Amino acid sequence: MEKKQKKHKKSILQQEKYCYLCDRLDHKYMVRGLQEHHIFGGPNRSISEAEGLKCWLCLEHHTQGPEAVHNNIRNARILQQEAQQAYERTHTREEFVRLIGRNYMVT
Ligand SMILES: [Zn+2]
Ligand SMILES: [Zn+2]
Repeated sequence: MEKKQKKHKKSILQQEKYCYLCDRLDHKYMVRGLQEHHIFGGPNRSISEAEGLKCWLCLEHHTQGPEAVHNNIRNARILQQEAQQAYERTHTREEFVRLIGRNYMVT
């Protein structure tokens, strides 16, 4: 009998636990108060979990203030594009679009 199990995967964007955007935008290595962010939310949240389309963020880059991805579409888009690029290292663009529903590499 097969056990039904939800798929979980480690982040495909980072191997270690640090704020992805502190590193990416400010060249800082921040490890305090991190929260896990699912890069494609809403109906795609469980897909993000299953495929590792997630990253660690500090509070200021996650939910609190003007630089937080949940308030700042520009920063959210950086993550979406880099997650797509990471996914496309092992998949085709068609597979990404089929999975997530759109192509984030076009502006
Ligand atoms: Zn940060
Ligand atoms: Zn989040």
